[in-house]
Amino acid sequence: MEVKNLHKSFGDNEVLKGIDFHVNQGEVVCVIGPSGSGKSTLLRCVNRLEEPTSGTIMVEGTDITDPETDLDAVRTRIGMVFQQFNLFPHLNVLQNLTLAQRRAKKRGKAEAEETAMKNLAKVGLADRAKAFPAQLSGGQQQRVAIARALSMDPDMMLFDEPTSALDPELVGDVLEVMRQLAQEGMTMMVVTHEMGFAREVGDRVVFMDGGVVVEQGAPAAVLGNPQNERTRSFLSKVL
Ligand code: ATP
Ligand code: MG
Repeated sequence: MEVKNLHKSFGDNEVLKGIDFHVNQGEVVCVIGPSGSGKSTLLRCVNRLEEPTSGTIMVEGTDITDPETDLDAVRTRIGMVFQQFNLFPHLNVLQNLTLAQRRAKKRGKAEAEETAMKNLAKVGLADRAKAFPAQLSGGQQQRVAIARALSMDPDMMLFDEPTSALDPELVGDVLEVMRQLAQEGMTMMVVTHEMGFAREVGDRVVFMDGGVVVEQGAPAAVLGNPQNERTRSFLSKVL
């Protein structure tokens, strides 16, 4: 995935001011930066929940900012996990995982359920298939949300602060699932405040501030020896 000169404005407010960056296949890129710097907007542009004002986003040779692009197809190829888990409260876990598969991937019930159970096992929740979201902890709900995204067989996964809404003792299980995904070679873009995760699992860290990429590089370099004053200032507040 390659983003070139991406701009996004909301009215007069230019939130992304020419973003250039890429995520190679199998790479884990962690995006960090202060509140309001445009991290979520960038992620939302990548799976076209937001329409970019200008610029290109190439996904395997296709420019997904092209008006002709089939947005449903884009969204089945790029899974997204949000801070709030966004599960359907009236559907049980299994139904949450099969709904989009049946609608967007046109899978039959048996195939959708088989794929769902495989991914529930992967996140350690095969025994909760019949539970409703409200019966699960926040960490379990987030793992269900990850399994739901994986059930679409995406080429890439986007995570927007997936652990920020969780009680501290539940964060580890979710990070462990993400770590395992990374080890399996999933291409991932992760907005996170978990600097330990960025350092250990990230192949690259991108620091954004004020709608631009200020600095990027290997986690040890960006987090351990930042070159830019804005990066240093941000890290001094979060580390
Ligand atoms: P945080 O760390 O708090 O999640 P962020 O880096 O994800 O911050 P964004 O959510 O991308 O930041 O927001 C960047 C700017 O864009 C903010 O000034 C925000 O008010 C504005 N913004 C985001 N979404 C919209 C929208 N739908 N309409 C208008 N303005 C928006
Ligand atoms: Mg955000």
